[in-house]
Amino acid sequence: MKVLIAEDDASVRHLLKKTLLRAGYDVVEAADGRAALKCLLSADGPRLALLDWLMPELDGLSVCREIRSCAKHPYVYMIFLTSKSSKEDVAAGLAAGADDYLTKPYNPQELKARLRAGERILKLEDTLIHDALHDPLTHLPNRSFFLDRLSLCVSRGKRHADYKFAVLFVDIDRFRVVNDSLGNAAGDQLLTQVAERLGGSIRQGISTSRAIAACATERQQRGGGILARLGGDKFTVLLEDIQNAADGIRVAERIQRNIQSPFLIDGQEVFITASTGIALSSTGYSAAENMLGDAFAAMNRAKALGKARYEICDPVMHAAAVDRLRLETDLRGALERDEFRVCYQPIVSLGDGRITGFEALVRWQRPEFGLVMPSGFIPVTEDTGLILEMGNWVLGEACRQLCVWNRQFPSDRSFTVAVNVSARQFVQPDLVDRIAQILYESGTEPFNLRLEITESMTIGDEERVARILAELKVLGVRLCMDDFGTGYSSLSYLRRFSLDVLKIDRSFVSDMVSNTESCEIVKTILRLGRNLGIEVVAEGVETAEQVSLLQSLGCEYAQGYYFSEPIDESGVAQTLSLLGASDYTLPNGLPIQSVSLSVK
Ligand code: C2E
Ligand code: MG
Ligand code: MG
Repeated sequence: MKVLIAEDDASVRHLLKKTLLRAGYDVVEAADGRAALKCLLSADGPRLALLDWLMPELDGLSVCREIRSCAKHPYVYMIFLTSKSSKEDVAAGLAAGADDYLTKPYNPQELKARLRAGERILKLEDTLIHDALHDPLTHLPNRSFFLDRLSLCVSRGKRHADYKFAVLFVDIDRFRVVNDSLGNAAGDQLLTQVAERLGGSIRQGISTSRAIAACATERQQRGGGILARLGGDKFTVLLEDIQNAADGIRVAERIQRNIQSPFLIDGQEVFITASTGIALSSTGYSAAENMLGDAFAAMNRAKALGKARYEICDPVMHAAAVDRLRLETDLRGALERDEFRVCYQPIVSLGDGRITGFEALVRWQRPEFGLVMPSGFIPVTEDTGLILEMGNWVLGEACRQLCVWNRQFPSDRSFTVAVNVSARQFVQPDLVDRIAQILYESGTEPFNLRLEITESMTIGDEERVARILAELKVLGVRLCMDDFGTGYSSLSYLRRFSLDVLKIDRSFVSDMVSNTESCEIVKTILRLGRNLGIEVVAEGVETAEQVSLLQSLGCEYAQGYYFSEPIDESGVAQTLSLLGASDYTLPNGLPIQSVSLSVK
């Protein structure tokens, strides 16, 4: 370890140096305060220092204060070694930022012991810094480290137009499947091996690009890479000082190739692929986060286009990424700012035209943008986890509203409310408790609440979903399979999850009149419902022909623009008041007239 001796007395310096060299230290000397400061602030300067108090140019106290004011500089352990020995002097030295204080004449043994203590502190400091900047599993740099380095590149790029760099965002395809099927320990092993292979791909990639560019020595020294793990199965690569986009693409291709050969995990061969997004500095970034966000967006595009491939972020994608960032930011505060609304679409009995209940459909009143439909924000809330809070809010709101209507418009059969629940919401360990709480607080009868789930949500952790659904059934809540027929329809789910309602997807209803195949699917679903004793609701009914056909096929319930578009709570109250009588039956017998006409 290097030690600085800042001492103006040459003979004291000489003696100190001899002692320290014998104790195994490297020694750097400074004869005045200014030189000491310069030495300590230099890159790779000593981190242990013995400071005299009274020195020319700058005294020891000032050196101490200067060093402590440089927050970004690595920690320097400073020991005063001075003839100023009063209690006040010691206090002043420590107050200026020194770690220790020794007075002359000094005892060499004591000096060495104090230096060792300093070394221990510095080691601890290094460990803490290392841990804060590295991923404990793969020992790779983590997100903070990566963003820090990327920020340096971005600043450098702003100063030097020809300085080019690239960010690769690598995500393992279907990593969750490996993790779920082989267990977390195997997943960890896989990630460690992936990290090694990615590291290899970058090193190879760089040496190749250098060989190509081997026309100048300066070029040969170009191109370094940092591999980081951002968490989960997400890795990032920073390619510094590249020549052009091709360098980034070469590394991405190498990653694709290298990752495809099997990994050996617990004696078992595991095959994976990766999707990579590339962002290039030529886009002109002002912040590291934006560049990382673009690489992430490009990676998502690679996934959407079929995985096991790479995509480069282009200006259109860049604009999309900026919009998305703003959307995320706006969404984060939307709940607090009370910007979500719930609309309700009536569900109608095709037998007697009676309104039996409503589906709650969320909307977002986004300032400057107007009313945003779920497709414009639900996927983002699912990605960010905001769906949990928002979903709970919708549930609470719908239940509260249902109770108001059931009180306001009493009938022999109370209305029901159906609330959509995303797969992400099922990850909440306390979902059942929360729903129970909402039911209790709002005074909703459990059997009047229907939770709409989709088929896709049952893939993955089926056991867990089955357990939660069973607990919800015990609570008395009804379960409804939404968009039935569009997903991974497995008939075994119907029994396993003991569903109460099936909703025929709009795509079948919309062309059942003209397309015999769709009509057959509708018939099959209706028969299935009858045989299993499950209620069936046809979604997206828009025309009188569809109503008649559904009635002739024995479909009991329907929902769609033909009856009413989703309307806000006052619209519902208005409709129910208009319908007047105690059974809230739609007027004019059958075919049923659109109620939306009368309330708009
Ligand atoms: P969904 O649950 O299948 O809801 C039915 C969608 O079809 C609604 O779209 C509704 O407005 C629309 N629709 C109803 N009748 C007709 C019709 O006759 N013709 C046509 N063309 N469309 C009709 P919306 O409100 O845009 O909701 C879309 C999806 O967003 C919903 O599909 C649901 O999956 C999701 N969603 C809505 N609200 C929530 C929520 O609070 N939580 C969650 N997790 N998802 C929600
Ligand atoms: Mg639904
Ligand atoms: Mg649906």
